[in-house]
Amino acid sequence: MTDQTHADDAHLETTDQLTFQNPVDRYPAIEPPEQHQEEPGLDSEMTPKSDRGEHSYRGTGRLQGRKALITGADSGIGAAVAIAFAREGADVAINYLPAEESDAQWVKGIIEAEGRTAVLLPGDLTDASFCETIVTDAVQGLGGLDILVNNAGKQIARESLEELPDEQLVETFQVNILAMFRITKAALQHLQPGSTIINTTSVVAYMAPPVLLDYASTKAAINNFTKGLGQQLAPKGIRVNAVAPGPIWTPLQPTDGQPKEELPEFGKSTPLGRAGQPTELAPAYVFLASPESSYVIGETLNVNGGMPTP
Ligand code: NAD
Ligand code: MG
Repeated sequence: MTDQTHADDAHLETTDQLTFQNPVDRYPAIEPPEQHQEEPGLDSEMTPKSDRGEHSYRGTGRLQGRKALITGADSGIGAAVAIAFAREGADVAINYLPAEESDAQWVKGIIEAEGRTAVLLPGDLTDASFCETIVTDAVQGLGGLDILVNNAGKQIARESLEELPDEQLVETFQVNILAMFRITKAALQHLQPGSTIINTTSVVAYMAPPVLLDYASTKAAINNFTKGLGQQLAPKGIRVNAVAPGPIWTPLQPTDGQPKEELPEFGKSTPLGRAGQPTELAPAYVFLASPESSYVIGETLNVNGGMPTP
């Protein structure tokens, strides 16, 4: 299903992710014009449009019959993961903020076009009890749960610590790391051996950009949480890993995730010379979700266009 607001992204139609190709020019080096959206922003309002895999992700049956809950899956990386999981044969429950209903409906249409179930779970992850509710509702809607992707995130750039409002500081920690603890804890009673948990962290966990003190601190915490929990759950047969994206063109960026004037240069300083598209993250999540990564635990898989990591 393609609605009008998403119809002008044909320039991103590309070969699928399994076709031999040069990663330098798989996608154009975009120069997004200066633009602004109120948080949380919509994919349908972005210029240029991103590729979330609707035309390009080809499934190969690697998650047949699996049941996944993905937070922040209306847009960006989460949407690309939801689309890929459905094409790999999984049913998917997606959480997002009520203001993102139109983006979520678009993702739901693509999941259902694959003949898979889409469960929509709008609501705010700063609410601790809602973090438990989405797990219960996902289990009920999907008939079980064996993949959890903690992907929702909040990122607001601030020039100085003095300009960082306490409300932002608290909300960034609530959404990025506290909700991750709460949702994962609630999910554990439902996860059988073989289940997988994947947390979205970031390259900034190691780079510590001076304008992202709060956000980058949560991403470092996510790496640590992933490695510790990975050890705790391995004997139970539940694997925990993380994916660390580099600069990816998603609504997080034009909603004050970056200073506006830096958007035209977004992603150009990577060794590949371009920003990543959300669907370029999807194979990493599929790999970590599927049984083929059975001996991979506590790993942070960097998908960042070549930026060096520890
Ligand atoms: P995005 O804006 O598409 O996704 C973030 C999602 O988080 C939103 O769609 C929203 O549904 C959700 N969210 C935010 N606050 C919420 C709240 N209070 N309650 C419920 N949901 C809430 O952007 P994205 O870039 O795809 O972000 C996905 C993840 O990737 C985030 O964890 C982000 O930190 C991470 N990441 C992104 C980049 C990048 O360059 N885009 C780089 C590194 C890491
Ligand atoms: Mg969104």
